[in-house]
Amino acid sequence: MVENGARRGTALVTGGSRGIGAAAAIALAVDGWDVGVSYRTRSEAAEQVVAACEKVGRRAYAVQADVAEPEEIERLFDAVTGELGAIGAVVNNAGVVSPSGRVADYDLARLERVFRINTIGAFLVASAAVRRMSTANGGAGGVIVNVSSRGAVLGSAGEYVDYASSKAAVDTMTIGLANEVAKEGIRVLGVRPGLIETEIHEEGRLERIGTTPPLGRPGKAEEVAELIAFLASDRSSYMTGSMVDVAGGR
Ligand code: NAP
Repeated sequence: MVENGARRGTALVTGGSRGIGAAAAIALAVDGWDVGVSYRTRSEAAEQVVAACEKVGRRAYAVQADVAEPEEIERLFDAVTGELGAIGAVVNNAGVVSPSGRVADYDLARLERVFRINTIGAFLVASAAVRRMSTANGGAGGVIVNVSSRGAVLGSAGEYVDYASSKAAVDTMTIGLANEVAKEGIRVLGVRPGLIETEIHEEGRLERIGTTPPLGRPGKAEEVAELIAFLASDRSSYMTGSMVDVAGGR
């Protein structure tokens, strides 16, 4: 266990400029990690997250990288490692939803976008992490936390079954990869957020269904971030291959 205030190591959060990723980056910094914050377009937001991490006494570094592009992911990992040291925790968080619609109306471009970013992107990030962290490759081990969705279980009928399915694949990857690398010092875990107050939702969606979870309200990004920080730390040392719901009972 790491003592209060001690440095845990370097963590990387994809999609750390906003929402759950931003809250996770800050929670990890509070928990003792120096944090690499990746973003796709919102550099100012990412720099604000860096400043928030620095405010709690840790180092942080923002890098622009699209998780749908393999060479950008390699550049991201190398840049964060070069600036902050070897990466010991990766939060596979970057993701997008599709516009609301029925399966019968989906076109190929929509399907390719959501699976490319949410599923293929998550695989590419996990792959880059394993190659660097695996003790079989001379790495020091580490933790991968995949951000899935309760939609993976519920199916998101009438809204975005494609998004839900892209996250169900991430759940399966979490289990398979966890078993694959368990003896190489790497634990792989996942969180399934429910309705969380971020900019990802279409206008009016949170107002419309935000009180439907059994707890009667949407969740806050910080409530997911707290779980991510726990899973990334050695406080969850006997967990791997698990998906943990943080969804207000939904
Ligand atoms: P958000 O507020 O829309 O933030 C998305 C983040 O991902 C931003 O930092 C964005 O970067 C980044 N991003 C998007 N596409 C990217 C790409 N191709 N490459 C790199 N970065 C990319 O979303 P959120 O609600 O925090 O969601 C975070 C994760 O939680 C997603 O995987 C989402 O599916 C999952 N989730 C969210 C909810 C919810 O209710 N909010 C529920 C279940 C699961 P820029 O800032 O540069 O655009």
